[in-house]
Amino acid sequence: MTAAARKIELVGRALDRLSPLEKSCTLCPRDCRVDRTAGAGGVCRTGGLASVSHALLHFGEEPVISGRSGSGTIFFTGCNLKCLFCQNYQLSWLLEGRPVSDEDLAAMMLDLQARGARNINLVSPSHVALPILRALRLALEGGLALPLVWNSNGYDGLEVIRALEGIVDIYLPDLKYHSAGLSGRYSAAPDYFEKASQAVKEMSLQQPALDIGPDGTARRGLIVRHLILPGAVEDTLLLLDWVGRNLSPFIGLSLMSQYHPCFRAPEEIQRGVAADEYRRAADAALALGLEQLFLQPQAFQADEHLMPDFRKEKPFRWK
Ligand code: SF4
Repeated sequence: MTAAARKIELVGRALDRLSPLEKSCTLCPRDCRVDRTAGAGGVCRTGGLASVSHALLHFGEEPVISGRSGSGTIFFTGCNLKCLFCQNYQLSWLLEGRPVSDEDLAAMMLDLQARGARNINLVSPSHVALPILRALRLALEGGLALPLVWNSNGYDGLEVIRALEGIVDIYLPDLKYHSAGLSGRYSAAPDYFEKASQAVKEMSLQQPALDIGPDGTARRGLIVRHLILPGAVEDTLLLLDWVGRNLSPFIGLSLMSQYHPCFRAPEEIQRGVAADEYRRAADAALALGLEQLFLQPQAFQADEHLMPDFRKEKPFRWK
């Protein structure tokens, strides 16, 4: 059996397993129990179809994701977490995008492959796992052969992640908060760490080692992202300690300093991350001795290419 045929079989099984969750939606930890096929009544405000803002070659992800020819990135609209400070609020909160059929979504994946993308990078996929799987089956039947990247906020349904075993090649989840106080205040999700830590542990079991090919891009593995929040470095240190104790040492960790107050960011986080805050976090991350550590020390000032405007045809301005 070819790799594509095997994946098609696994996608079919995942759809059988997850489709029943859609009628009374429990696809993510919000457990809204709305009928997704009948409308968009849940926290993610998304119905049965996915909605997409942009599908483009992304040159600003971690180097092992973007490579030299770009990551084939699909930005979904709607979100199951909706952080107050979301940099992509035009998509997560304002739902600026268009619904796409499964066939359209499959065509986007194949088009990105034809344009030289190193992978298919699904941004905010948690609430649209089913349309993604349906489209993926079509794309695989049409010749898609790229690694699949699950680029989520970490607030993923454990059942969904289990069903994705053998389908997702690279997990790229956020781990945003350790404290229930912070996740409750900024994302209305006091159970964020409880749920995200379960999901990320499962990802680490499935993809315990970051495997980088001869061209310098990842073929499979797990890269955990953490965005340091101003004034919350103690929370970062708790998270990093958890990563060191609970995940495979052969994963990647991306420690991000690019926080910039956006949308409805409360008063106490109306500033960037200070250099000494980043240094404390970076020292702790280095001490973990993980396989790959991606640091971002240059982003203390708001960096234009890190602040996309999805109302433009080209939302990013690459350097
Ligand atoms: S996927 Fe959407 S509707 Fe379903 S539980 Fe999560 S937020 Fe609610």
